[in-house]
Amino acid sequence: MHSDQIAKAIKITAQLMELHEQNPFKIKSLASAAFNIDKLNVDLSGKTLDELEALPGVGKSIAAKMIELNNTETLQELNQLLVETPVGVIEMLSIKGIGPKKVRQLWKELEIESIGELLYACNENRLVTLKGFGQKTQEEIKKQILFLNASKGKCLFAEVEQYANELIQTIKNHLPNVLVELTGQMRRKCEIIDVVEILIGTENQLNPLEIMHPNKVKIELIYCKPDLFYKMLFEATAASDFPLSTFNYPENIDKEESIFTFNHLQYIAPELRENAAIIALASENKIPELITYADLKGTLHNHSTYSDGSNSLKDMALYCKLQGWEYLGICDHSQSAFYANGLKPDRVAAQHAEIEHLNKELFPFKIFKGIESDILYDGSLDYDADTLKSFDFIVASVHSVLKMNEEKATQRLITAIENPYTTILGHPTGRLLLSRQGYPINHKKVIDACAANGVVVELNANPYRLDIDWRWIPYCLEKGVMISINPDAHETAGFFDMHFGTLAARKGMLSKEKCFNVLNLEQISKHFASKNTESIKF
Ligand SMILES: [Zn+2]
Ligand SMILES: [Zn+2]
Repeated sequence: MHSDQIAKAIKITAQLMELHEQNPFKIKSLASAAFNIDKLNVDLSGKTLDELEALPGVGKSIAAKMIELNNTETLQELNQLLVETPVGVIEMLSIKGIGPKKVRQLWKELEIESIGELLYACNENRLVTLKGFGQKTQEEIKKQILFLNASKGKCLFAEVEQYANELIQTIKNHLPNVLVELTGQMRRKCEIIDVVEILIGTENQLNPLEIMHPNKVKIELIYCKPDLFYKMLFEATAASDFPLSTFNYPENIDKEESIFTFNHLQYIAPELRENAAIIALASENKIPELITYADLKGTLHNHSTYSDGSNSLKDMALYCKLQGWEYLGICDHSQSAFYANGLKPDRVAAQHAEIEHLNKELFPFKIFKGIESDILYDGSLDYDADTLKSFDFIVASVHSVLKMNEEKATQRLITAIENPYTTILGHPTGRLLLSRQGYPINHKKVIDACAANGVVVELNANPYRLDIDWRWIPYCLEKGVMISINPDAHETAGFFDMHFGTLAARKGMLSKEKCFNVLNLEQISKHFASKNTESIKF
């Protein structure tokens, strides 16, 4: 084996031993041996034990390991450590600036088991509470992770939207009077993007622009003659399962709508052009008017400095009032969420007192007393009945012990949904896009339970979550279950995520009539009150 490979194997062994808090003397000698071997830059195949032992920093036991590596290309000790460590935790060791000790803290104290989860925790400001970490470390880690993710070629819609819009503008500036539009995944508002496609209708091609998205997502410029622009736009927008071949084209298309009229179909918004199912609805004129961001009347499920948010309750409320919204549902974390400074009953009472005070001050704007109650392992909520009763509404979410099979996860959610105090089921699968799959659930059973218990399903609008997946919204609607587009904002800037939530909701064909937070203050107050009366009866 080459000395580089041997050094690498010994180094990772030392790191993993440190991660598992094994003998510090052994760790130190392995680390320093790896450091020395790394500098050799020679092939060490076929060396004898004596020869290896003579190398600087290499003692008898390390020389034996090198022999083992030479003979078997692996180390038993290393293999054992690898088996005992989640893959995502091993990947975390590759982040610059955090050594094994810090990775262990993240893993054991915050239950973070992947780089994706770590990024999410940084965004939620969770690291600052850990011993030896601080705001600066958190920022540095976040920067490192974004850098690592950047090389993978895929990114969230939210990470590329602004860039794509600016690019369109640049092209328009270069080529005034040409037709330019985003097409493909971007125009369909897909939650994950691997190529940004831009259609340009022009007789002349541009001089190559210097274009490279910072996340290295592919950018494709598609050229066509101006008179073919709308036909091309229509074709390039469609997903591969959308039945393009069934369409006929009129002559001289001057807008996309003409293609639908010509085929006796209702206009199908780009977001909905995913597959053939939409055609039947369009032929019967049954596609509803899709929800828009401007339809939203308020925002539910948000955090403040009472738990793990960065802005005070008052700042969050003032910001919402300024947006013209009628209400803010504040849902800090419940008592079990110690990592997020969850609220014990005395702090719940203190927050309620502040809310009452602020509601007088900000009238007619209203802050609703909510909580994001952890769904405990057995499906119960995180407070006694007296405390639960004191909230206007409750978002119930799973945050701990995410490793469950489908049966367990489904039952855990259903138990929470059947709890008479649950108003909204929060981020139903716990997924983090591009980084964590989420626990498996039987969506139909969960949604059926929501229907039976008058529980609203959250579409968590954080672009990392977009959970419930838009593909399940039609089933919710079929069962009469309302969808709440909740930003889960941890700072005032987080409210903007409702933009991404609305885009996902549109892909799920949500109309404003079926969206919970399109209800105005009076309507939603009534809903909360009726749910509470039912709870008391129960
Ligand atoms: Zn949550
Ligand atoms: Zn939350």
